Amino acid sequence: MDMGPQEDRERLISTLIDEGDPTSEKVIQAFRETPREGFISENDASFAYADYPLEIGHGQTISAPHMVAIMTELLKLRPRDNVLEIGAGSGYQAAILSRLVNRVYSIEVEGELAVFAKNNLERAGIRNVRVIMGDGGKGHPAGAPYDKIIVSCATPEIFQSWKEQLAVGGILIAPVGGFYRQELILLKKTKKGFNQENHGECIFVPLRPG
Ligand code: SAH
Repeated sequence: MDMGPQEDRERLISTLIDEGDPTSEKVIQAFRETPREGFISENDASFAYADYPLEIGHGQTISAPHMVAIMTELLKLRPRDNVLEIGAGSGYQAAILSRLVNRVYSIEVEGELAVFAKNNLERAGIRNVRVIMGDGGKGHPAGAPYDKIIVSCATPEIFQSWKEQLAVGGILIAPVGGFYRQELILLKKTKKGFNQENHGECIFVPLRPG
């Protein structure tokens, strides 16, 4: 039976909840309010609510829903948070974040994808995300400090610029490692320095030099 996007979305959310991601009511609500079909190519519309990454052009992908759920939960977002994302891609992760915080800056190095993300967010009626074209490796000093930083592409290391632009008490999450696999690293900035947690293996497309 062919079901509408609304039913498909609810079914995916139920599956994710059964598997333990996402866990908080707020994040579940953000998934409910965000139509993933509005962030992918029309040709892939029938796969919008499958739990895997999809091509969005330029060799890039929109992350699998469970990965978006895991990263969003780990950030422990609060309504007043100011958030930086590296790698806007389709804008979907930024859209989910936007439901939970005050403001999101999302940087995208690929010009056409920056436009894609901007248009997708606009069509979804989201107004508190600023998509910026540029090299996310440098962060975005103009919007700093950030309560939360999410790196949506695989990075060989956590750059100094991100550490500097993170507020004291803030959380950064990033896939850190090589081309074929990375570890999901969570960094907490305290007055005394950084605490690091490892949240397991993941696979993201690589960060490119700007
Ligand atoms: N968060 C996205 C998925 C991102 S895929 C979504 O929800 O759809 C990773 C993205 O990071 C790609 O769009 C890629 O172009 C971008 N990227 C790669 N290197 C980058 C850099 N140095 N600065 C900013 N964005 C970068």
